[in-house]
Amino acid sequence: FDLRNEDLRDLHELGQGNGGSVKRVEHVPTGTHMAKKIVLIDAKPSVRKQILRELQIMHDCRSRYIISFYGAFLADPNICICMEFMDKGSLDGIYKKIGAIELDIVGMVALAVLEGLTYLYDVHRIIHRDIKPSNILCNSRGEIKICDFGVSGELINSIADTFVGTSTYMSPERIQGAQYTVKSDVWSLGISLIELALGHFPFAESSSDDSDLSDLEDFESTLSPARPGSMGSIAALSFTPSSLPPSKKKSKANNSEKTKKDKRKSKGVSLQGGGMTMSILELLQHIVNEPAPRLTPEGRFPAHAVHFVDSCLFKDPDARMTPKELLKYEWIELTRNATVDVEAWANTF
Ligand code: ADP
Ligand code: MG
Repeated sequence: FDLRNEDLRDLHELGQGNGGSVKRVEHVPTGTHMAKKIVLIDAKPSVRKQILRELQIMHDCRSRYIISFYGAFLADPNICICMEFMDKGSLDGIYKKIGAIELDIVGMVALAVLEGLTYLYDVHRIIHRDIKPSNILCNSRGEIKICDFGVSGELINSIADTFVGTSTYMSPERIQGAQYTVKSDVWSLGISLIELALGHFPFAESSSDDSDLSDLEDFESTLSPARPGSMGSIAALSFTPSSLPPSKKKSKANNSEKTKKDKRKSKGVSLQGGGMTMSILELLQHIVNEPAPRLTPEGRFPAHAVHFVDSCLFKDPDARMTPKELLKYEWIELTRNATVDVEAWANTF
């Protein structure tokens, strides 16, 4: 492809994230449908050109577990990245639509992400840096692939300059300022797998809608002690956007968010006889200081799966395995040999 913006016809918006928006487009000369990611980059022309050059590495990233790349171009003041369109969308959207995802499918997600991460690191020395359900995509052929990995150092820098580069999928060592390694991605995978299997973000009692921290100061969380008297352990956390400015991305969801928020608040109060309010920074502290979440309740999930997720969530990165090592875990081997029909599953919604 020689991609030109004028050959792309907008179809509809697929979603919005921290760095920009994603649209479904048609490449008119070939009839190919693509996902076009539009990232607003506030940087000098030289930096923008550098980003564009770095993005070309994506042409060489060929794996069935990685979203294909069609090309990128500048459309001032934006950078557009065109990639394979995945018609079933991202896994966060899927579980929010159909509820908790059955564990054999979650196993296939784990397998795909580990294969994708291993490929990126072994072949290209790329660390993903942003594993989370919205960056794991599925299509009606039953393929599961990862997207939005950190190929371009300059792009990472530019986005970091613009946004709070923090997410609730971040590993304890990253929160404490250590360098990214492949093991940081493994932590994020562990959190994501629990989220998919439970149908909600592990640190929250209901939805994970608000789990990106771009609006840091706009969020508060309700904190409830796990057991009476043990103020340190947190049974349930829920983020509630308290004062979303109408211009922000979630404005269209404001009404439903408001009802959800009120429900959660009253729930917290009735459960705890008075909720405590916790800031996002306190949540990050919680991730650093408290035991990692687990696939619970005990007995609901098979021991192999629980053991695998526990291994992803070792708080000490030295104890945590790499994606390649985790591919040898029993749950993953079993999943690989079980020939789970993801295609049939993906065609039920
Ligand atoms: P985030 O990943 O933080 O949600 P993005 O801007 O990366 O933000 O993506 C916004 C949404 O667009 C995603 O949540 C996903 O549902 C959708 N999306 C992204 N890439 C694709 C793709 N290649 N095919 C289909 N949907 C996509
Ligand atoms: Mg994304």
